[in-house]
Amino acid sequence: MQVLTIKKSADCKEKANKKFAAELEYGGKSFHVYFEINSSEAIWRAEAFITAALFPAMHLGMDIHCPFPISKTYLKNLCTIQDILLSWFPDLRPVKILPEKTITSPLNGTEKQALFFSGGLDSSYSLLKHLNELDALIFVNGFDISLNDVGLYRNVRERLYRVARAKHKKLVIVHTNLREFLECEMSLSWPDTHGLAMASVAHLLSSEYTKILISATACYADLYPYGSHPLLDPLWGTETLEIVHDGCEADRVQKAKYVAKDEIVRSVLRVCWENRNGAFNCCECEKCVRTMVQLEIAGVLLKFPSFNKPLNIDNLNCKFPAVVAKKFRTRYLPELETSGHNPRLLKKLYSLLYRKPLYIRILHGFRKIFKI
Ligand SMILES: [Zn+2]
Repeated sequence: MQVLTIKKSADCKEKANKKFAAELEYGGKSFHVYFEINSSEAIWRAEAFITAALFPAMHLGMDIHCPFPISKTYLKNLCTIQDILLSWFPDLRPVKILPEKTITSPLNGTEKQALFFSGGLDSSYSLLKHLNELDALIFVNGFDISLNDVGLYRNVRERLYRVARAKHKKLVIVHTNLREFLECEMSLSWPDTHGLAMASVAHLLSSEYTKILISATACYADLYPYGSHPLLDPLWGTETLEIVHDGCEADRVQKAKYVAKDEIVRSVLRVCWENRNGAFNCCECEKCVRTMVQLEIAGVLLKFPSFNKPLNIDNLNCKFPAVVAKKFRTRYLPELETSGHNPRLLKKLYSLLYRKPLYIRILHGFRKIFKI
């Protein structure tokens, strides 16, 4: 079997603003993956690069050769991680991990906790829920903001610093091209791989934080194969690093109600994936509109100034992903109906979510016109 080899890059910097990099070599090619971190405590961990390389290696059918020691617990867990991924993605293939040797990760003497924080609804919920336990927030540039979009990055960074200062948390900022490797170089889906990307970063911060939280996207009732998942995330940890998938107990309307109580978090809430025209929240893309509808169902939309355009109910024509549409039908619509909060939105959502397929509507139109 061919091998994907992890080689530590010469341009790693171990002082001040740290840089950790590796050449991932496979099939005669090489890709330089790097992480720049504004934390003096960050350390080189080979597990970060194995985590980054596992899905690609399974996609290519290549064993991973890693000439560094790695955690014994982590190596054991990689078998279960592969079992889960193979059951979700049958095109992947099982691979062997070949480290220099296995070790028990040394205790680092801290009990600090950190949370991946983008300013979105899920991570805002986790921040407020664990406000008294968290020491730091981690923001990764290069995940949902392109490394080329410097203006948007600076805008978001300024707002995240505002939250971190107000809540007395350290803000750890990471710059990485890992998404480019996964998406552009390997043609893998970001929704399938974003969880391992966060786990990679977590390993580099594991000398300072023993517990790192990743906010849940779906609640327990709606789990589906996804890159960050309560089955997967904890398995990326080691003897001394606990990775927690947090917040599955609440759906997004419940999270909206919870987050709406906090003024500073309300003022910076950011959910937009498309950032049309560099907008913080464009208020037009599917994610923005969906979140605005969820905030309105929770009765709190007007409390969120970061959505600076009104929700246009008459023109609402959003095609929700199937799993989201199901959630709206089974949970959110009954809730909106019971609350009586916005009957116009309720009527519109009913017409959108229970709309018959186009060919049926055309057939009905013909029948009406020709009275057949
Ligand atoms: Zn948007």
